[in-house]
Amino acid sequence: MIVNAINRAFETADERKWEKTYWALDIHDTILKPNWKSHQIPTDFYPCSKEALRLLSQREDVVLFLYTCSHPRDTDQYIELFKSYNIHIDYVNENPEIVNDDLGYYDKKPYFNVIIDDKAGFDPIIEWPMILQWLQDFQN
Ligand SMILES: [Mg+2]
Repeated sequence: MIVNAINRAFETADERKWEKTYWALDIHDTILKPNWKSHQIPTDFYPCSKEALRLLSQREDVVLFLYTCSHPRDTDQYIELFKSYNIHIDYVNENPEIVNDDLGYYDKKPYFNVIIDDKAGFDPIIEWPMILQWLQDFQN
């Protein structure tokens, strides 16, 4: 369950005194219901996704970046769409804040603490409401 992963990320951040956690976000079948059109982005959010992402955007210990196969022509539109709901995305398919070191090589797989992606097993119908509830219960 994603809330377990979220819990773990914040606990680890706490233990190791990390100021931030990094969240990789897929879009289709994860935040938005796909519309299968090539020149019109979908705008239909899964229930609770907007609210949860807005709360995450407000947290100073959370950095959100898109992890998506969307065309570059569309990613700006997604970022604008999310911004219109006060959801702030910092990067697309990269996390320049964490650079290569002895322990990790991030040129081809950006560093993240949490991944929200239907292809990683995330169920948007069940799990967005759980994330929202978790955030409301454990707000800083
Ligand atoms: Mg997807």
